[in-house]
Amino acid sequence: MNLFSSLDLAITALCAYVGTFHLYLFLKRNSGGATVHFPLLCYAIALYAAASAFLYAADAAATGLNWQRIQYFCSIVLAVEFLNLTYRFLGRPSDAPKKAFLFALGALSVAGLVLPGLIVDAGRQTLRELVVFGASVSFYEAAPGLLWSALIAVELPGMVYVYVLLARGRLLSKQRDLTPLLVAFPAFFAAAVLDNLVYSGALRFIYTAEYGFMAVLLAMDLILLQRFIGVFKEVETLNLHLGEKVEERTKEIKRLADELREANAALLERNADLQEHAERDGMTLLLNHAAFHRRLGELYSLARRQRFAVAAMLLDVDKFKEINDGLGHQAGDEVIKRIAAALKESVRDYDLKSRYRGDGETPALRSYDIAGRYGGDEFAIVLPFCGLKDAATVAERVCSRMRALSFADRPELRVTVSVGCSVVADPSLLEAETELIRLADKALYLAKDRGRDRAIILSFDAAAPDGVELGGAEG
Ligand code: GH3
Ligand code: MG
Repeated sequence: MNLFSSLDLAITALCAYVGTFHLYLFLKRNSGGATVHFPLLCYAIALYAAASAFLYAADAAATGLNWQRIQYFCSIVLAVEFLNLTYRFLGRPSDAPKKAFLFALGALSVAGLVLPGLIVDAGRQTLRELVVFGASVSFYEAAPGLLWSALIAVELPGMVYVYVLLARGRLLSKQRDLTPLLVAFPAFFAAAVLDNLVYSGALRFIYTAEYGFMAVLLAMDLILLQRFIGVFKEVETLNLHLGEKVEERTKEIKRLADELREANAALLERNADLQEHAERDGMTLLLNHAAFHRRLGELYSLARRQRFAVAAMLLDVDKFKEINDGLGHQAGDEVIKRIAAALKESVRDYDLKSRYRGDGETPALRSYDIAGRYGGDEFAIVLPFCGLKDAATVAERVCSRMRALSFADRPELRVTVSVGCSVVADPSLLEAETELIRLADKALYLAKDRGRDRAIILSFDAAAPDGVELGGAEG
């Protein structure tokens, strides 16, 4: 090896490195400008420079011929990849001129393989001497053969054509990143011409082709790099916008979720209102007939399991028709409302003994929850944990309360009620809660029959299913 070879090998190493770098990019990312053509171009230059190095180092004439033949094939690969890359940079689809050039280059490489003797002219081999920085080297170099001359004849118009395409792309399509290649290309072109002059012996110079190759390689590397950066920029901008969009959408979704939650809460509230409404009598706001029976059923099944006493009371306004007839229906309505209010107040929380209460703070059952408007001028109450004594107290309280009702605009109006009450100490003795109501109804009938304005209590006994009259709270 000598200085000339060493410099060429340095170029080889550099091109191989750049080629491998771009091959890696190509394998990792097959987009954003990554292409296999550029690594192939780099490797072709690397091999060309390596062949030069070995040519300068070859002392046998025959070996030198082989390195020159390798350079011939490298030139073909270079031309092919240069064409491919130019088309790629321009975004130009393959067309007839490209196909024609590729076909001609393909044919020349096949011819080179079949007839290697025609690549260089072994008969016109001369010993040449080069001197650089005081160092000199002598080596055998053959003049171009028939095939090499044909290759130059194909490559020269090919390069002119490619240059025209690049110039048009830069000027017409405003592809600014092609500028480095437009500058490097004439250098490459000049290098190719000079190389041929050196070859023919008209000029004494070295590395002409390598300089041209390096210029082109640098320009293409720059273009690819700019395109990579362009793609990264796009990705970054997209990412940025995506982040903003995601944030925006998240806010929107949160807002919608809040709205939905609010609407849901309002709906639940409205549902509860509706349910409450469906259970209540509009005029008195007491439980309606159906709701009262439902509540009674629930309470009764609990009482049956826990075996606690239950009392039921039916209350009917005495001679209500007379009030209606004498004072009008409106006055009758007013009386019903006042009786309902008084009834709520008569059933006190302590009538619902501790076990039927909630956590102590909020009663599980509010006093009026067990009072219902049974229909017309008839009301009903059900009292859990209520034995005879307690039932008598409540019944008496109800009667006297109604008796004490006064009406501001009708001071003379007096209202009395009759109360029928039934009590069962052990609810499991009764088949169903309707039995308890039936018994209360019977007691009410007795109260009416015995002159009204009183309460009659019937206690259920297994031996006497129609009840044992245990006492009445007379008014
Ligand atoms: P009794 O002492 O035997 O119960 O005599 P009464 O006149 O009260 O007879 P009854 O209980 O059978 O009559 C109930 C009347 O109450 C019949 C109906 O016209 C009246 N009534 C029912 N619902 C309403 C109401 O909502 N408003 C008014 N004003 N009257 C009603
Ligand atoms: Mg009545």
